Amino acid sequence: MKNTRILILGLISLLLFSCKKGDIYQVDPKLDPYLQLFLQEAKERGFNFNLEEDGLILQFADLESPTIGLCTYTYPLLVQIDRTYWRDVTKYNNCEDLRQDVVFHELGHGLLNRSHDNQTLSNTEWKSIMCGGEIVRERSWQVNFSGMRKKYYLDELFNTKTPEPDFFKYGDTFSGDKGNLVESYDFSENKHFTDADGNVYDISNNAYNITTNNDYNNIVYLHTRKNLTSDFYYEVKLKTKLAGNGDCVGIIAGYPISDTTGVGNYFYISRNNSYNELRAYVGHMQCMQPIAEVILKKNVCQLDDQTETKLAIERTNNELYFYVNDQLIYRNDYMADQKYANFGLVTPSKNTVTVTSSMCYNKANGSLRASTENGLSTVFANRGGAIPFNIPNTIK
Ligand SMILES: [Zn+2]
Repeated sequence: MKNTRILILGLISLLLFSCKKGDIYQVDPKLDPYLQLFLQEAKERGFNFNLEEDGLILQFADLESPTIGLCTYTYPLLVQIDRTYWRDVTKYNNCEDLRQDVVFHELGHGLLNRSHDNQTLSNTEWKSIMCGGEIVRERSWQVNFSGMRKKYYLDELFNTKTPEPDFFKYGDTFSGDKGNLVESYDFSENKHFTDADGNVYDISNNAYNITTNNDYNNIVYLHTRKNLTSDFYYEVKLKTKLAGNGDCVGIIAGYPISDTTGVGNYFYISRNNSYNELRAYVGHMQCMQPIAEVILKKNVCQLDDQTETKLAIERTNNELYFYVNDQLIYRNDYMADQKYANFGLVTPSKNTVTVTSSMCYNKANGSLRASTENGLSTVFANRGGAIPFNIPNTIK
């Protein structure tokens, strides 16, 4: 969903003449913890407010979509949060981050007198949680207000000159330290399978061609491991042609949450035809939307059907590093400490991905244990557990 924030200016000079201090302080009890958190973060940075004296109305309202928050410079200050949005985000793991983001954004307008700031950082993420207003380059206003980025965004909220931390850097080259190879596939034996949904799995010419017939993006796990607690490196080389707007391909590190269901941290690349560019999206399947969007530089990859692209995920110190052709695209510490067991692809709908290699590496000593089932290839997340065939593989 769109995350537009609207700022209403005006009325100030008119109302200043008629108001007197201390007349209204009304804060919805459900919003009060978020106000208190804001005040705490403010205090730690030298800002002190006396809102009960200055007046504030912080309330839920039925705002017109896509507006989720509204700040009106009346006296007292009026801050409204959309009650539907507040309820809808409950089901996501990043619910608290999303709620804090919208409340802090509106209080940024109201208490810090900040207007919208749509500058971007080195890697093209938004510089500030004060981004918003008219849509820019068809981009979402989603800000990764989580983990290590949250402290930066809070610092920036109270001090616009906060320097950019290293984790927003873009284009560092992979160190080359993959660890020990523990599983790779041999695509020399031709195989073919069509599942009930019309998805086609075909091994020929030393490559694994996955053609999805669904209208939605699929997740295809290529490796299933057991209770991975070590750091790892997972790499896949593929060809696919992303032509249509929104076509995407990516990589995922997943883990089961029941006998039949898995979730995971994903990273995919999507084409935006309006701006003729590729964009990377980072997320977790239990979050609302991708939590981050990064616009790729032109030289990172092509994603036509002629050129091989290497996608990789490395986990180091409870952070996931996503690489495209050995260039670091994103560092993600959101829920990156899971017991990963499944590694594979995000495949585009109604399209073919040709995988030429898929390899798992263990970066710590021996704790990446082999799966009990060889060559399990599973369409797992969108539909339950279709297993097209076993592919010969090498497990160490
Ligand atoms: Zn705003």
